[in-house]
Amino acid sequence: MQYHVCLDPGHGPGCANRSPDGSFEEQAFAMDMAQRIARLLRAQGVMVTMTRSASEYPSLQKRCQIANGIPKLSLFVSLHSNAAGGAGWNEAHGHMLLTSAPGEKAERNRAAGAILAEWKKLGIPLRPNPLRHQGFAVLRDTIAAAVLLEHGFHTNREEVAMLKDSDFRAKLAEADARGILAYLGFPCALGQEADRARVALRFGLQEETLDYLEAYPFGKELLHKLAEGR
Ligand SMILES: [Zn+2]
Repeated sequence: MQYHVCLDPGHGPGCANRSPDGSFEEQAFAMDMAQRIARLLRAQGVMVTMTRSASEYPSLQKRCQIANGIPKLSLFVSLHSNAAGGAGWNEAHGHMLLTSAPGEKAERNRAAGAILAEWKKLGIPLRPNPLRHQGFAVLRDTIAAAVLLEHGFHTNREEVAMLKDSDFRAKLAEADARGILAYLGFPCALGQEADRARVALRFGLQEETLDYLEAYPFGKELLHKLAEGR
């Protein structure tokens, strides 16, 4: 079975969506996340198509057309960070997922649920009711199951500091990829490196401490248990 995932880095160059201090651009973040997730998926043999390159800013219709032009597309994932209304910094924070409509058994919500489960395992901060529904064009007009990820708020000072951190992005991208792979039916495909990343984030451990832990008899098994939250 050849799986094919379409990643949609939100917005594009020139888009005004950014942190109030101008240090974070949503479109550049979305592209960075898409590239990270694409690498992880391709390493597992999943085909990945992007709706845009770093220099493009396609319309929402164009993004849907690209997705709908892929035969037997397994999943469409749109990547974003969120913003609270009004100017300046805001308290609103936490990650959330959107699909076009409810229905627990619908493929879109099964995919969203799989990604959400990985976010929870990693201890990613979530909004209340983290899975929501909205008729956005890229969710409504794509034929394949479609999910939109709002990776925190770039209008929250603390959250944007996390989103700007390359280590955090690596872990976040990995959680997204793990969720996508779990939805596609790949069991625990990212292996031991993923266990290390999850344990590091959950317990705030340094690389050195992880090396130490891993060197113990049964250290790898212990890491896996900690990563799984057991
Ligand atoms: Zn956006």
